[in-house]
Amino acid sequence: MKIKRKQFNFLIPLASIFVIALSAVIALLSVGGDEAVYYFNQLNFTPDPKTVCIDPGHGGNESGAVGENGKRLEKDDNLRLALLVRDELQNRGYTVVMTRETDTDISLEDRCKTANKSKAALFVSIHRNSSSGTGRGCEMWIHSKNPSDDRLLAENILQSLENMGADTSRGIHTGYREGANKNYYVNRCSKMPSVLAEIGFVTSSDDNAMFDEKIGDLALSIADGIEMTLLEMNGE
Ligand SMILES: [Zn+2]
Repeated sequence: MKIKRKQFNFLIPLASIFVIALSAVIALLSVGGDEAVYYFNQLNFTPDPKTVCIDPGHGGNESGAVGENGKRLEKDDNLRLALLVRDELQNRGYTVVMTRETDTDISLEDRCKTANKSKAALFVSIHRNSSSGTGRGCEMWIHSKNPSDDRLLAENILQSLENMGADTSRGIHTGYREGANKNYYVNRCSKMPSVLAEIGFVTSSDDNAMFDEKIGDLALSIADGIEMTLLEMNGE
């Protein structure tokens, strides 16, 4: 059968688009796993500017770090503080999606799914640190790409914590503590700007005393940092 050439004319732009798309995918994958995931995650995501996801780290059988001779479990501190941050943000009119509200173990994958499905504009994972030495103070972890909104969120939370008198000298870190060019799962797979916040050390008696005495102020400061970031991101 003879086919007229013009019947195929529409295939040329279609084929070009396919080749360009394929090249983009190959280019992204060649950049490296973490970065490819990061870039793919930015596609087709429209966040709700009034929704925030708060993730109390660990839970259930996953105690996280342990302090005070095994009596103090990171998972409990994380949840206690995260629930207060939730309350504070809700009082200010924000919708807060929690990855857990009880002492349950949630996979890292499910934590990200919760955040991504909720269309949260920001994601904050709350943790406490541990050290075999004398480590103390708060620190923020963001993606190794150092995205500007993620850094803004980390800076705003850290500044608010400093304003209330917390030790913030450890500052902001990118990537992952135990490997160059890696990232914490929650920073890698959340589609919105995210921070993993270490709120002092469970292995420091000074940090624990501050945590217990000023947990309300800590929650207010974290909520302030989140709200400030939302306002700045939306140009208010
Ligand atoms: Zn932790």
